[in-house]
Amino acid sequence: MNATKKTNRVAAGIDLGTTFSVVAYCDGQSAPRVLANSVGKQATPSVVCFKKGEILVGQEAKDEQEFGNPNVASFFKRHMGDSTFAFSDGSKSYSATELSAFLLKKLKEDAEAQLGEKITDAIITVPAYFNHFQREATLAAARDAGLNPLRAINEPTAAALAFGIRASESTAGKKYLVYDLGGGTFDVSIIAIDAEEIRVLATEGDHLLGGKDWDDRILRYVADRFRDETGLDLFADVETLNEALVRAERAKTELSARVETKITVASQGQKVSAPITRALFEELSSDLFERTSDLCTAALRSCSPPLTWNDLEGIILVGGSTRMPAVAEFMEAKSGKPVLTGVNVDEAVALGAALQASADLAAEDPQYELESAERRRRLKMSESHLVRMQESYLWRMPQLADVCSHTLGMIAENDDRSKYVNSAILKKNSPIPSQDTKRHKLNVGVAENPELEVYLLQGEHERPLDNVVLGKYVFSGFETGGAKEIQVDVTYSYDRNGVVDVAAAQVGSARSLTRRVEPVPDDMSWTDGAPKDLTTKFTGNLSIVFVVDVSTSMFGRAINKARASFLSFIEKFDLKTTKIGVVRFSDKSQIVQKPTNSMKLLKRAASKIRIAPFRLGIANAAVPLDDALRCFPEPRVKVDRSSLVKYSSKKLRDLAFARSSSDDRRFIVVLTDGRWLWRDRAVKQAKLCAAQGIDIVAIGFGAADKRFLEEISTLDEGALFTDLSRLEESFSTIAQTIKGIE
Ligand code: AMP
Repeated sequence: MNATKKTNRVAAGIDLGTTFSVVAYCDGQSAPRVLANSVGKQATPSVVCFKKGEILVGQEAKDEQEFGNPNVASFFKRHMGDSTFAFSDGSKSYSATELSAFLLKKLKEDAEAQLGEKITDAIITVPAYFNHFQREATLAAARDAGLNPLRAINEPTAAALAFGIRASESTAGKKYLVYDLGGGTFDVSIIAIDAEEIRVLATEGDHLLGGKDWDDRILRYVADRFRDETGLDLFADVETLNEALVRAERAKTELSARVETKITVASQGQKVSAPITRALFEELSSDLFERTSDLCTAALRSCSPPLTWNDLEGIILVGGSTRMPAVAEFMEAKSGKPVLTGVNVDEAVALGAALQASADLAAEDPQYELESAERRRRLKMSESHLVRMQESYLWRMPQLADVCSHTLGMIAENDDRSKYVNSAILKKNSPIPSQDTKRHKLNVGVAENPELEVYLLQGEHERPLDNVVLGKYVFSGFETGGAKEIQVDVTYSYDRNGVVDVAAAQVGSARSLTRRVEPVPDDMSWTDGAPKDLTTKFTGNLSIVFVVDVSTSMFGRAINKARASFLSFIEKFDLKTTKIGVVRFSDKSQIVQKPTNSMKLLKRAASKIRIAPFRLGIANAAVPLDDALRCFPEPRVKVDRSSLVKYSSKKLRDLAFARSSSDDRRFIVVLTDGRWLWRDRAVKQAKLCAAQGIDIVAIGFGAADKRFLEEISTLDEGALFTDLSRLEESFSTIAQTIKGIE
C-alpha cells in the first residue's frame, strides 16, 4: 500500500539544475526512482522558450534554441534571487523565479503523467553556496508552479543520501568530499555526518569550469590539425565552428567508453579527420583536472578546523562530466580514498531529494507516521536488512536544525560614529521560525531621498567583515521633513528553510518603504574605514564606456571571463555618481547600452557580451571607438583637428584637461584579444577622444598587440596586457586607476 497516497499528498524530489533538471519519486517503501519526462528522457533541459504566445519548456525549447530562436531563456538558475535580472521576449520581461516556475510546472506535469497521480509537494535541491535570497527565490518558484515546497536541501547533501550515506550514531564524524562536475560548472563540498544530520562544512567552485572546457580542448586540438593540414582557420566560420563543437563533445563522451576515437571537421570546402586517444585527451586536459583538485584542497582548507584528504572517508561524484574515467582515477590518486560508485551521477541529487521528500511527508502526516512506525518495527527485526534497504534513510534523515545556527545582524555605525560594527538582531540559537526587531538611527545628512542600505551579516564578530555578508537590501521612501537623523525599525525573520527576510519601517511614519534587493559588492573594504560624513555632497560624476571584443576568437572561456569581469567591474562603482555604457564589436560595432546609472540595464547589457554570430561578424574590422565616442553627450572641449596629428594621445589628454574645468571624468575601457584592422583609424579616433578629455584604458590578452594598446590608451598605465585567469584582477586595477583619477 502506498502510504503517501492515503493523505492525498504526493511528494517528489526535484534537482533543479542549471542545464538539466531531474524529478524523482519515492513512495516511502521502495527505492526512489527517476520519473521520465514526456519525451521519455530522465533529464529535462532547463530551457524556456516564448513562441507566438506559447511557452515551450524543456526539449522543445532547446530545439528552438538550436534553430536560432532568440526568445529562449537558459542558465537562469545563475540569476535566482537577483532582482535586477530580467529576460525579455520582446514584449514581456520575466524574472529567474518566473522562468523557474515555468520549468517546474512542466516537470510537475510530466512527472504526474508518469506517476498517474497529482504531485502536491516537493523538495527542491539548491547548490550549497546559495544564499537565502536564492533559496527564497527557488521556494517561490515552486509555489508559483503549484507545488508545496517542503524545503530546499543542499545538492551535495541530497547526493550523499542517494549514495546511502545517512546520519546515525555509527556514521557520526565521517566526512566526504562531493565532487560535482557538470557541463559548465564545478562545485566541491565537504560534508560531515553526525548523529542527526548531514552538514555542509565548506564549499568551493568555479562557475566557469565544466565539461565545456574539456570539449574546448578537443576543439582546439582539431583546429590545430585543421590549420596544419589546410592552412585555414577553423574558427573563421561560425556555423562550422558550432558543428565542430558538437562533434568535439561527442568525441569526448565516446572517449569515456573507448580508448580511441576520431573527429572529423569540415570548413571552407576542406575536410580533416583526426584520431584522438583517451591518453592524449587526458594530457590535453590535465591542467583542468589540476584546477578541480586545487579547488578541492581549498575547500578542505577552508573547513574549521582545516582538513586534509586523510580526514575523508571517501569521494562522491556527481554531474555528467564525472563519467570521464579520468575523474575517478585522478581523484582516487589525489585523495588516496575510495570513490563511491553505484548511483547514476546524473540522478543522484534528485534521488536523494525524493528520499528526503518522502521522509518529510511522513514526519508531517500522522497517518503516514503510524504506517512508518509499523514498518520500522518490521524492519528492525533485521538490522542488516535495515541497513541494506534504502528505506532505512527514512528514520535517520538529516533534520534541519530547529534553532538558527548563526547570529544574524546588520552593518551599523557604533554609538560615537567612529566605526562600523555588526549590530546583532537575531541571536545565535534563537528557536526558528523566529523574528526580532531593532531600532536604528539613520544619519540622512543633506540627502533629498535618503536610502538605508541593510547589509545582512551572519556571524558573531564585531568587525563586519569577520562575518559572512549574506545580502544587501536597500530601503527608500523615507519622510525626512528636513531632519538630519531619522529612526528606523529593522526586523529580521528566519524560517525553517533557512530563509531570512528583512523588513524596515520608519518610526513615526505611516508611509511604507520600498525595498530593493541588490547583489553584495565584491569590495566591502569601506566597512573598515570611518563612516561617511553625509553632510557634504559629492559632485563629481564619472561616465565609462566599456568596449568589448565579441569576435569569434573570444569564443568559450574568454567571452565568459569578459562578461564576469565586466560584472565585477561595475560593482566597484557607485552608480549614483557613475554612468556606465557598453559597446561590443567584431566586424561591426554596436552600442549595446548608452551610459546609464541603472544596474538593471547594465546587467542586461552584460548578458549581451557574448559571441553574436548572427548579428556581428567574425573579425576585428570595426572601429568601435567611433561608437564609444557617440555614447557621450556633446564634446565638452572644442577640438582643433590639426592638433590630432601632432601630438600623442597622452599629450592631447593633458591639453584637454588644461582647458576643461569640469569635475566630471569620462573613460573608455577597451577589452580585446585580437589585432585590429584599421589600426590607423582607431589611433586617430583615440586621439580625438583624448583631445576631448576622454581617457582610454585598454586591456588586451591572447593575440592582442601591446604596442597598439599603448598607442590608443591615454594614461601612462592605461594599457594592460594580461591573461585570461587574471582578467578580473586587471579590471580591478583599472577600476582603482579610474577611481584614483576621479
Ligand atoms: P550535467 O550538467 O551534470 O548534466 O553534465 C553535462 C556534462 O556532462 C556535459 O558537458 C556532457 O558533455 C558531460 N557528459 C555527459 N556524459 C558524458 C560522458 N559519458 N563522458 C564525458 N562527459 C559526459
